[in-house]
Amino acid sequence: MSHTCSSLLMHCMDFRFGSKMKEFMAEKGLMNDADMVAFAGSAKNLVNPETQAFALRQIEISKTLHEMKVVHLMNHTDCGGYGGKAAFADEAAEYDELTGDLKEAKNVVLAKWPDLEVKLWLAHIKEDGHEAEISFEEIA
Ligand SMILES: [Zn+2]
Repeated sequence: MSHTCSSLLMHCMDFRFGSKMKEFMAEKGLMNDADMVAFAGSAKNLVNPETQAFALRQIEISKTLHEMKVVHLMNHTDCGGYGGKAAFADEAAEYDELTGDLKEAKNVVLAKWPDLEVKLWLAHIKEDGHEAEISFEEIA
């Protein structure tokens, strides 16, 4: 018996995503075709030496067990794993750190598994609370 999936999606544990994450997955064709890893701070865990091995292990398991080929790494604005938006001087500084970590995390994954494809996403949370507006930007 084999059960395989195309992708792995690593995103933040933040409850505000809720159904929006399901919509994103459906839109990208990932529904029921992606292993899902949710960490506070998402990609930060791949660049932080203290958590890197554990984060990489999730990818390794997905790759060996489910033969996935594409890793989707997603960070988001106002992320508690980064201290929230208050931790940054302004939106540009926040954007630079969140996307910088995504790019560094991509390099970490590709250094270990050059055969994988890595896609980067930044989710923009426009409002706080249960009715947060969320949009997804692909980071080149
Ligand atoms: Zn978060």
